[in-house]
Amino acid sequence: MTKINFDPINLTQALVQCPSVTPKDEGALDIVENHLSHLGFKCTRLPFSDKNSYDVDNLFASIGSTGKHLAFAGHTDVVPPGNEDSWKYPPFSAKIDGDKLYGRGSEDMKSNIACFISATHAFIEKHGANFNGKLSFIITGDEEKDAINGTSKMLEWTKQNNIIFDQCIVGEPTSNKSIGDKIKIGRRGSISFFITVKGVQGHTANAHRAENSAHHLTTLLNNIISKPLDKGNDNFLPTSIQIATIDIGNTAQNIIPEFAKATVNIRFNDMHTSESLIEWMQNHIDSVFKNIDKSSCSFTIDSSAEAFLTKPGSLSKLMSDSIAEVTSKNSKTEMATDGGTSDARFIKDYCEVAELGIRNQTLHQVNEFVYLNDLKDLQKIYLKILENYFSKN
Ligand SMILES: [Zn+2]
Repeated sequence: MTKINFDPINLTQALVQCPSVTPKDEGALDIVENHLSHLGFKCTRLPFSDKNSYDVDNLFASIGSTGKHLAFAGHTDVVPPGNEDSWKYPPFSAKIDGDKLYGRGSEDMKSNIACFISATHAFIEKHGANFNGKLSFIITGDEEKDAINGTSKMLEWTKQNNIIFDQCIVGEPTSNKSIGDKIKIGRRGSISFFITVKGVQGHTANAHRAENSAHHLTTLLNNIISKPLDKGNDNFLPTSIQIATIDIGNTAQNIIPEFAKATVNIRFNDMHTSESLIEWMQNHIDSVFKNIDKSSCSFTIDSSAEAFLTKPGSLSKLMSDSIAEVTSKNSKTEMATDGGTSDARFIKDYCEVAELGIRNQTLHQVNEFVYLNDLKDLQKIYLKILENYFSKN
């Protein structure tokens, strides 16, 4: 049994000390479950298996039976620490040095879970468990890697059990220079194209008897990047097309290569979908290969997320108002859509979702850390959000 301690710093330390590199848990979910059970939450472990991925354990916890339903979503898994000798302190020691707490997962995103649990504790201490609302935690152990046995399956499970959320806050690190100066109300989508061009191999001296796959591939790639897809809009940056790999693997200088391959990753805004981009790619291929055999160029895709936007509205306003009350700053909270994908990509299909967490500074890096004062500030902001959210019931 873990020690129950609702201080956000202590709780962050306890979570960081579990080396929960995906898909390992190492006791992290137990800590979350024990603290929430202590507060009266009904906790359900949701282990999932799938032939396409490793097994994962997850935790759903809920309190309350009537009123508006707010969910907090997060993940206890972390990315590997990399070379441990490069770290100032062992990556899972959760060492506090001066005003910082070091450790893998401290920023992404165990501190955010700790702060939300701590805020929930303070809220229930003040208002009791009958606060005329419902509050749930959707905590997965599979966000950083495959994300097959994590949040998406948990949400299917909640749907099957007639659990409906009104709003959800994801605790990913979104803040910039100070806690709460930036929240995320959407995310760009991501799709990768794995392109293969098949030519005819031959002697470089007999080019007329060969078909150089590399030449066709470079023409195609040049076509793709020569014209931007869009200029962006009020809520999103322009779509970004990036050539990630070009692979020919030819070991001889006198052979015209038969195969040439490339990977293109596109981070797209809400002016596109995976489907429209697949069509866009096919059109480019059709025009480049119109005088050659079109079947000589093929591609497969990995479409990991569609772009989405939660229109600036009730949830984001409640969050930014709560931030302003706690920080008493006049500067407005930025409503952003930049950065990578998160589990909000799944949640957006179930309810209104926005993301707010600790400062985005060192996640996935060596010497990942959080400032102790930031933990205190984030806990206060989460508490204010709970008070404002449920007072309006
Ligand atoms: Zn994360």
